[in-house]
Amino acid sequence: MIRVICNQETFVYNAYHMVKAFYPSETVASSVDEKASNYVTVEFAEDGTDGQKEAMIEIADRQTNDMPAEKSAMKKYLDRMLYKKLSEQSGRTLAWGILMGVRPTKIAMRKLEEGMTQETFVPWFQKENLVSEEKAHLAWQIAGREKKLLDQLDYENGYSLYVGIPFCPTVCSYCSFSSGALGDWEHRVEDYLAALMKELEAIAKMSEGRKADTIYMGGGTPTTLNADQLDRLLTCIDRHFVREGLLEFTVEAGRPDSITKEKLQVLRNHGINRISINPQSMQQKTLDTIGRKHTVEQVYEAFHMARKLGKRLTIIQDEIGTMVEMAGNKARQMGLFPYYLYRQKNIAGNFENVGYAKVDKAGIYNILIMEEKQSIIAAGAGASTKIVLKEPVINPESKKKKKTSLIRQENVKAIDAYISRVDEMIERKGEWLWR
Ligand code: SF4
Repeated sequence: MIRVICNQETFVYNAYHMVKAFYPSETVASSVDEKASNYVTVEFAEDGTDGQKEAMIEIADRQTNDMPAEKSAMKKYLDRMLYKKLSEQSGRTLAWGILMGVRPTKIAMRKLEEGMTQETFVPWFQKENLVSEEKAHLAWQIAGREKKLLDQLDYENGYSLYVGIPFCPTVCSYCSFSSGALGDWEHRVEDYLAALMKELEAIAKMSEGRKADTIYMGGGTPTTLNADQLDRLLTCIDRHFVREGLLEFTVEAGRPDSITKEKLQVLRNHGINRISINPQSMQQKTLDTIGRKHTVEQVYEAFHMARKLGKRLTIIQDEIGTMVEMAGNKARQMGLFPYYLYRQKNIAGNFENVGYAKVDKAGIYNILIMEEKQSIIAAGAGASTKIVLKEPVINPESKKKKKTSLIRQENVKAIDAYISRVDEMIERKGEWLWR
């Protein structure tokens, strides 16, 4: 058992996640004690010893002289001190150093835009955030690729559109998205589509004179819809959104057991130029355990069916997991390059998830999700709209009245609630969109 005690709420997040990264299999608890003399205290106690401390790390008494006064500099200083002590205690290092957030490449992107060169960035990034040299190079390399792709976007008048389909053939045991098994929801699919098309139409009206740079249909599994439903939904999008200048249109076909020739033909007829087939695992035992009722063979069949059907379809396969190095080497051998990166909270081994693609086949939407440089307007149950503002405003969700340039709006997750409250979802969007 490890206890993390901070004397300010603002130190808790990083301290907790850093301790968890050094000791991933330990139970870690965090609390705030405003009267504590230390900024951060970490207490190690063995289970069953009634909380008796085995070891303790104390970070900087309040009286210390070299503590920076400015809040963000102070946080960084404390993070580095805590990192060094945890590293000594555990005998380990973390590849991403003190960076606990999910978007480390944002820092590299900012420095690239400020005109920094790789030669200055790598040592600076290592020193500032205690990351390994390899990760510093990776962050820089990915930021460079991202920038090239994002330079095609129209930040002034463009936006990205997300369309959510919250149905899947079955629900995987680890699912954290808003998705229901088609068998349980079949009777409401038409009502859902009607609500979704209403929201899409309203978004198009609110965004008149602007154009979508990317469209992404995800979920759930959009190809759970039958061919006719898919066709009607795509026709609605064709009718209401300007296709001229659209850089990419992606449809997730995550579950191979939902793909048929007929549905692929519909996607092709509507000019979809990217589909994502995502098997999660190529081990039948794992597929069975996680509740995916399809076979490894079905993954190959779906892949070959899609390949055969059109030269215009690009297949994206994401390798996710802890075999980062092996996957990276294999990807390079296949002529794929890392082009976006994100990290997950509490990811074992302090690794990262990297998206690989052929140089001209990278998915811009995936980068936008990470870099948050353009508004993503989202329709559907559980869909999350991110509005990038031109001028920062007081964050309506911040108790401390902090300013923000990014407003998030979540649609209700429950499918029934979304159908009955779609007008409310539309009205809420109108409050912030294009301000
Ligand atoms: S395929 Fe994805 S969205 Fe569907 S149930 Fe599995 S994890 Fe959830």
